[in-house]
Amino acid sequence: MAEVKLHNITFGYNNSEMVLSNISFTVQQGEFVVAVGPNGAGKSTLLKIIAGLIEPAAGQVLIDNGSIRSAARQGIMAYVPQHYSQNTAAFPATVEEIVALGFVGMRGRLKAAANKQLVGQMLEMVGAEQLKGRRIGELSGGQQQRVMVARALAGEPRLLLLDEPTSGIDYAASSRIYELLGQLNSTLGITIIMVSHDIENGTRFAAKVACINRHLCFFGDSEEFRSSHASMQHLWYYSGFTG
Ligand code: ADP
Repeated sequence: MAEVKLHNITFGYNNSEMVLSNISFTVQQGEFVVAVGPNGAGKSTLLKIIAGLIEPAAGQVLIDNGSIRSAARQGIMAYVPQHYSQNTAAFPATVEEIVALGFVGMRGRLKAAANKQLVGQMLEMVGAEQLKGRRIGELSGGQQQRVMVARALAGEPRLLLLDEPTSGIDYAASSRIYELLGQLNSTLGITIIMVSHDIENGTRFAAKVACINRHLCFFGDSEEFRSSHASMQHLWYYSGFTG
């Protein structure tokens, strides 16, 4: 479990137009939050800022009241970037090998990289144990994404950051990925922040919604979002906000 506090996050690429302006919200320990909004709204950028890959121009991110750097040092978070599974699929590696890579770099875990049993446990957790000997490139998009989640879990993160984990995956497989994330959240208590374009599944499995259109349009319960905000056009069409 981990708590994430965003305080007035502001950012623009190459000091040009603002992509994010004064974003503040708190994700409590063990919460599952989905970030929604139109294309180009800044969702992926915000996730990269939380992951520590981009420095905000202004504002602060606190993870368990400490810096991102300290959270990264402690191995608190795992970040699964967009199109990660498709990019990895070009690799001539087996599912077992891909998941074992998740152990590399963990303190005291190098030995575990060779530990097939641990890899098996991770795959079991995501319901993909039967795929362990298969080449990653042969799997469907949904199966590949499960493997990527298993790999992220190898570091025993308390915070899981996922960028569009179901993009390019058909509806049924995509629903099963959401179900899996919902289970990981409720059984292991892992805090999840996920960018998604799938409002229906996102708001069904995540208890909270952060709606971003360069600024924060809404942050609160999924139920409230569905009943009061989901049909509001300004959320879905980027309107040239210059912040
Ligand atoms: P979303 O995830 O909501 O679709 P992004 O965070 O990917 O939005 O992008 C927000 C804006 O920042 C877009 O206008 C996009 O073109 C721009 N952008 C994203 N990445 C870069 C980059 N590396 N360099 C310059 N501009 C970028």
